[in-house]
Amino acid sequence: MKQELLYEGKAKQIYSTANPDEVIIYYKDDATAGNGAKKAQFEDKGRLNSEISRMIYMDLMKNGIKTHLIKSVNEREQLCHKVDIILLEAIVRNIAAGSLVKRIGLEEGKKLNPPILEFCYKADAFNDPLINDDHAVALGLATHEELDFIRGEMRKINDYLKALWLEVGIDLVDFKIEFGRMKDGTIVLADEISPDTCRLWDSKTGEKLDKDRFRQDMGGVIEAYEEIHRRLKDRT
Ligand code: UDP
Repeated sequence: MKQELLYEGKAKQIYSTANPDEVIIYYKDDATAGNGAKKAQFEDKGRLNSEISRMIYMDLMKNGIKTHLIKSVNEREQLCHKVDIILLEAIVRNIAAGSLVKRIGLEEGKKLNPPILEFCYKADAFNDPLINDDHAVALGLATHEELDFIRGEMRKINDYLKALWLEVGIDLVDFKIEFGRMKDGTIVLADEISPDTCRLWDSKTGEKLDKDRFRQDMGGVIEAYEEIHRRLKDRT
């Protein structure tokens, strides 16, 4: 059962539970882009993202990836291990898009083989800047050994996710994940994996089925999330 609101982010709320080592994560319908500059609400987005993320996490856990997820409580809420989030956005790119295109001029759609791994510092005040390992260590975010472990997990997770999305007719362009530390120091995958945090292109038509529809005012945002949810659900 949810108790006190511990933290409210852009798309989720974190509640305490009777167990001090466990929290409940509630998925809201809010959407933001451009570091909060653009805001909207999409009815049912929270439910869809919670379910999508849960299905993906279950698959990763079956493959031996350690995560914060314990179980879903209902369609919008998940019971999770309480972790200290490492203030890094871990980004994996298989196809050039988004900030990569803007920053270094790679053509959108160019295949990246091997994939590009990036870290951004989760700090709204600095607009989540791209950083390297030395910056992360100097900031005290993680040790070099931990960063190497995280990179290994990013590669494994990318391999599993690419295969999973391909099964449902989707090219995984790029995605952002986060990691947290459990009480005993173990680093686990935390936060969501959903169309809010991945770029997902239909393999046949190239249609964008992710948050870029909101960022780029393309319309059909919730319909795209519903489509993703339906394809994952039909798979199981
Ligand atoms: N991403 C995210 N949260 C962020 C920034 C990026 O989930 O705060 C995801 C984004 O959806 C994409 C990937 O990370 O799948 C790479 O994003 P990019 O660096 O291209 O940034 P953007 O163009 O989204 O600003």
